[in-house]
Amino acid sequence: MIGVDVGGTKILAGLVDRAGGIQSRHEVETPKASEEDVVAALDDAVEVLLEEKVAAIGYGIPSNLDRRTRVALQATNLPLTELDLVAHARERFGLPVGIENDANAAALAEWKLGAGRGVSNLLMLTLGTGVGGGLVLDGQLYRGWAELGHVVVQADGPPCQGNCHGHGHLEVMASGTAADRAARELYGADATGNLLIERARGGDEEARERLAAIGDLLGGAIGSFANVFDPELVILGGGFGRASGELVLGSALRAARREALMPADETLRIVPAELGADAGLVGAALVAFDVLDQTG
Ligand SMILES: [Zn+2]
Repeated sequence: MIGVDVGGTKILAGLVDRAGGIQSRHEVETPKASEEDVVAALDDAVEVLLEEKVAAIGYGIPSNLDRRTRVALQATNLPLTELDLVAHARERFGLPVGIENDANAAALAEWKLGAGRGVSNLLMLTLGTGVGGGLVLDGQLYRGWAELGHVVVQADGPPCQGNCHGHGHLEVMASGTAADRAARELYGADATGNLLIERARGGDEEARERLAAIGDLLGGAIGSFANVFDPELVILGGGFGRASGELVLGSALRAARREALMPADETLRIVPAELGADAGLVGAALVAFDVLDQTG
């Protein structure tokens, strides 16, 4: 099965088996100029991996999808508007094609093959440049646009990013972007979140406090989500989530339990994702298996 994880900076495609094993992979930078360029890069990525045994293609895409038609309405960080990628790829490659929001695809992968195995209700947050979210509710992936990163955690806070005109959203308060901002404040214009994490690991108290403060805002949001969705488990993934680890997760758990109603105030668990940077790719391939199972 071919899975294609479409990110704002790179397109990651892979030949993936049902157990999530990646047989081969192809990675290219995401074109920024136009929709035509993005679609051409996606087609090339599939072309490279296409072989006889491939039975379906699945895409994970950072976009709002029409619930009925699955047309990609508008991506936050990509030049895509009203793109029917499913129809395009079906025609071009003559195979069944599935599509899912990228964060939903990552949640699907962690649920089926990663940290969420065996759980019926979970919430996944991918902390990267922004914050993506996905939900499994009553043993099913929620297929709507769960933009869990765009909730207010600081009233009148810094402006959000991409096409979002909100302020103080989780997306800019508890992401790699937030860590970059803290690093610049502490160490100057060229500093990044990676330096902040490095300093914190080296025992720098100020750096540890800044990351704990990010975790505190994140945990406040997680506690609020727990009060809405009642998940058994919250999974943290994404590049920043992986890199910061316990430096953010510890204070996030304290804050989440502080804000959550009982019994989640004692039972709520927050765990790191298990599939690493490949969660989105594996999830996209699982979407392809879903489509194949439905048509087969
Ligand atoms: Zn926002």
